[in-house]
Amino acid sequence: MDRGIFNTLEAYSDAGWQRGRAPVLVAKYGAVASISRSLTTLANDIPYAGMLHYVDDVDKIPAAAVSTLDADRLSALIKKGPVRLKLKLNCRVFPKIESYNVVGDIVGSKSPGQIVLMGGHLDNWDNTLGANDDGAGISHTLEAMRLIKELGLKPKRTIRAVLFMDEENGGLGGKAYALAERKDERHIAAIESDLGGSEPVGFSVEGKKGDYRKLKKWAYLFEPMNIMKFEDGESGTDIWRLADEGALTIGLQFNMHKYFNYHHAPLDTIGTIDPRELETGAIAMATLAYVLAEEGI
Ligand SMILES: [Zn+2]
Repeated sequence: MDRGIFNTLEAYSDAGWQRGRAPVLVAKYGAVASISRSLTTLANDIPYAGMLHYVDDVDKIPAAAVSTLDADRLSALIKKGPVRLKLKLNCRVFPKIESYNVVGDIVGSKSPGQIVLMGGHLDNWDNTLGANDDGAGISHTLEAMRLIKELGLKPKRTIRAVLFMDEENGGLGGKAYALAERKDERHIAAIESDLGGSEPVGFSVEGKKGDYRKLKKWAYLFEPMNIMKFEDGESGTDIWRLADEGALTIGLQFNMHKYFNYHHAPLDTIGTIDPRELETGAIAMATLAYVLAEEGI
């Protein structure tokens, strides 16, 4: 990841193709394996996992991420001359099995068929506990539901919590949810938390340019929490398809300085999460879901 790009999410997106597409690109030139540098902001000895994409008409060669320090060592060695590298990988792709999204509703009192969805994803990579990715999003969602119930709020429209299955390995839970037929239901908004459990800083709205203004009128509710950003941007892997039926799709945004220290790595443990910051994320989610369910878009 390029440290010259201040926004770590941007730096991650900018470098992501090296892990995701390299196996196909180099296989076309006869490569027998593909090595990529771990996508992280830290210099350490830990490999970071992540998705890659094969295509049908190109050989599926083995691919692995090495730690940032190992990538530096390898790079220095290659500059001195040819290097022989022995790879021993024990990863494999298992057959698909049936699994489920988890869905719960606070049913709307006046327009139950109009839905404000909030959610995160249940799965995580095998090398990590996934506290931030995406235990935090699941916690935000469940706690937001609990807060709304505890306060006895009965919004006009339905608030739906969805804990999506399989975001990491292709986003199948989000896809299945969006494609499922639901008579008499229409999503007016969907909020996803999938960028960790640190301090929330705002909301990005994926839609027509300027759609974020539809949220900005509620900015005064979030200012006391120091949540100031309302902008166009990405929403979330699990919810973006709901825009096709007219939903405003919204990503909860966080302070991202540390997120890629531990994302997709064994370092993503509960100890990296501050309870107060996690609670603030849940309050932000509950506030936005409730106000949209009560007042509409
Ligand atoms: Zn995630």
